[in-house]
Amino acid sequence: MEMRGGPEEVAEMVSANVSAAVGRARATRWGRGQAQGRGQVNVPLVAELLVARGRVRRRDRWRPEQVATYQRRRLDELLAFARQRSSFYRTLYQSLHRDLTAVPLAQLPPVTKGTLMSSWDDVATAPGLRLADVEQRLAQVDEVGGDAGSAWRGRWRMAATAGSTGQRGVFVWGPAEWLQVLASYARVNDWAGVEVGVRRRLPTAIVSTTRPSHQSAVVGATLRNPLVPTLRLDATRPLDEIVAALNTFRPRLLVCYASMLGPLAEEQLAGRLRVGPERVITASEETPPAARAAALEAWGVPIVATYAATETATIASTCPLGSLHLYEDFVIVEPVDQDYQPVPDGELADRVLVTVLFSRTLPLIRYELTDTVRLATEPCACGLPFRCLAEVGGRTDDTLTLPGHAGLPVAVHPIVFHDALAALAVHGWQVEQTPTGLDIFVVDPARVLDLAAAQRRVAEALESVGVGVGVGVGVGGATGLRIEVSAVDGLRRTTLGKARLIRALAAPSPDRPS
Ligand SMILES: [Zn+2]
Repeated sequence: MEMRGGPEEVAEMVSANVSAAVGRARATRWGRGQAQGRGQVNVPLVAELLVARGRVRRRDRWRPEQVATYQRRRLDELLAFARQRSSFYRTLYQSLHRDLTAVPLAQLPPVTKGTLMSSWDDVATAPGLRLADVEQRLAQVDEVGGDAGSAWRGRWRMAATAGSTGQRGVFVWGPAEWLQVLASYARVNDWAGVEVGVRRRLPTAIVSTTRPSHQSAVVGATLRNPLVPTLRLDATRPLDEIVAALNTFRPRLLVCYASMLGPLAEEQLAGRLRVGPERVITASEETPPAARAAALEAWGVPIVATYAATETATIASTCPLGSLHLYEDFVIVEPVDQDYQPVPDGELADRVLVTVLFSRTLPLIRYELTDTVRLATEPCACGLPFRCLAEVGGRTDDTLTLPGHAGLPVAVHPIVFHDALAALAVHGWQVEQTPTGLDIFVVDPARVLDLAAAQRRVAEALESVGVGVGVGVGVGGATGLRIEVSAVDGLRRTTLGKARLIRALAAPSPDRPS
């Protein structure tokens, strides 16, 4: 789930502290438009967010039928807007019925990130908004510094995704859309029961990336607030540095990439990390069950999972009963197979198409995310009207192509490695494809794991899906795939601090719809 950038920032917006900030700001008579300097509270935005959050909370109490009606109405508005204002969508929908409300969503063509980025200026609905200018501004924020929270040209907020497979994405939001982004992230804290108030400051530590153009940083800068002192740490820093910083800061809320959950929990269990967060929120990657168990043991508090993307803001987060509910009033989620056909509930989908109901500047309609997801078949008992995800797996882009028994290539989904390694390599693992086989790195600082057993399990798992592992296991040779397992101290991370589970020899370029 590379680039699932956002949900760290949930920490930075909580209703009570927002109310307090409004009161405080009124007292100092900060006027509209003057409150965006570094260190100041953006009062008008915060006030609007309070109203927006009230609406969002009301939708939590709807019935599923109300959600469906709302979705269709918002979708019709979006389709009409996109066809009228975006030359890209006007062309894309040219052959479709004049009245798009008569067309089922599933009959609209999907849009990939590649298509979006190559047609960016045509997709954009705001006159004069050009990708080149936006890129320039993003580079300025990253390299020169500057206030990522202030609106560019008095209007636009923007963020970029790094794209672990090389495809960079750039996204822009106008004021009304940005409010929806903020409200979507705020819901994560709401559902998690995070409490904050004038007498309850919420020191929040975020272990992810410190890059200023990352969506979480932009959200945080927009809503900076003295009641939520925030420490951002880069997940690429040495673990002992992160531990020392956390010990000094003593967060009440700990937000981290899921791949950091296990290492931090282990540090806590070993007595080196000494923090007592009331909630732990994981973001951006799938949470290994073993890491979750270690975190529960370490802190004994709810571990809140989120599924989010820069493009969409939050797509799902956990309710008090621990189910991962979709934010269906913000985003329509369609699990599909590799031919973009719908996948039934309970079955693993190759990818998802998302339609962001509030998107206008860059309308996202049936936009492809290459995450594998599985919808739950049973409803949750908590009373929320939104459907649940049973699973968010690895990225389809991380699927490896390996030689099969019959000489034909076999596509190996990340879940094969996950099933083989999760229970054994509890501190994390990574698979890297080489010209002759696979290098598997398991995190084992104490060097106590049985690497031969890990190797055997991977070989068996690959055999079971038809890969020709044969007699060459571990020793190489023409008859089999070389599988080498080594112990490492920590996961290797991208510049954004994310830990990719699988690295293919050459990134596959799956067929894209035009
Ligand atoms: Zn629930």
